[in-house]
Amino acid sequence: MMIVMKEGASTNQVEAVIRQVEQTGASAHVSRGEVHTVIGAIGDREHIANLELEGFPGVDHVVPISRPYKLASLQFKRGQPTVIDIDGRRIGGTSFMTIAGPCTVESRETMLDAARIVRDAGAQLLRGGAYKPRTSPYSFQGLGGEGLRLLQEAKEETGLPIVTELMDARDLEPVLEVADVIQLGARNMQNYTLLTEVGRSGRPVLLKRGLSATLEELLMSAEYVLKEGNANVILCERGIHTFETSYRFTLDLQAIPVLKEMTHLPVVVDPSHAAGKRALVPALSYAAAAAGADGIIVEIHPEPEAAICDGPQALYAEEFPEYLRKLEQAAALAGKEPVRV
Ligand code: PEP
Ligand code: MN
Repeated sequence: MMIVMKEGASTNQVEAVIRQVEQTGASAHVSRGEVHTVIGAIGDREHIANLELEGFPGVDHVVPISRPYKLASLQFKRGQPTVIDIDGRRIGGTSFMTIAGPCTVESRETMLDAARIVRDAGAQLLRGGAYKPRTSPYSFQGLGGEGLRLLQEAKEETGLPIVTELMDARDLEPVLEVADVIQLGARNMQNYTLLTEVGRSGRPVLLKRGLSATLEELLMSAEYVLKEGNANVILCERGIHTFETSYRFTLDLQAIPVLKEMTHLPVVVDPSHAAGKRALVPALSYAAAAAGADGIIVEIHPEPEAAICDGPQALYAEEFPEYLRKLEQAAALAGKEPVRV
């Protein structure tokens, strides 16, 4: 249920409602909008209805949230998009964000070079995996703790906030020391323990859509994070498995406008992992931006031919500034612009 407070309802009135909701064993999630405060009550619908909260001081009205994903639903935010601030860079609403960097942290030199390329072009966030989910157990698995240390160095030098993947809840503490955004990979979209832990951490999360997950399943996974009180979830479409074999994954562009009807959470698109091939990346990126994506997460590498992983899909340093310029033009078609600090 969603309890919409009156304009100007007092803190005491909001707290009184929360106490009532919690007495039924339900949990209360507060969202403070510009005009109205909304309390999402998640629990037994009948018990909450029996409270007859409509009659409480400061309460405007009470409406059921019909979707199975409650806190992620557009309804919960009364149609208003969530805007997430990552160290002054914003994503969501009218703010467009580009996240770029290598697939994995390979060495000090490549990581720092990549970071400079990303910063100099004017992108907002730096990506790089220290822990890598690889299809083959014999492939490079990432530098782990040493990779995190190199990300920290890249952040200190360039000032760029870091997006890095967490694969195992046991690594949460060291990852929290450097990650401004924790990436949960496609293969972990339904790792509910990990979702809960990341939710409890409060750190912004980039949640990738599973390879065969529906949008509803993606939102139910986001709900695990939101339920722990972490409102900073960014969804990521990265291509799904279909019957098509001419390319690695099918980038589901339709997911962008459809997610916008379902949820208030920002949506980014990863053209690199969908394509698996550099030549396809610009077209997919511009299409995604023009379709209303709130951002792009893209792989770039100072020397793709020498990359340890995903080199064939990484953009070259020389092409990145022009790519970013066109990407931002495409985003402008959807009424979005980047925030530079
Ligand atoms: C990645 O972004 O490095 C990655 C492994 O992506 P995905 O989880 O989408 O495969
Ligand atoms: Mn990769």
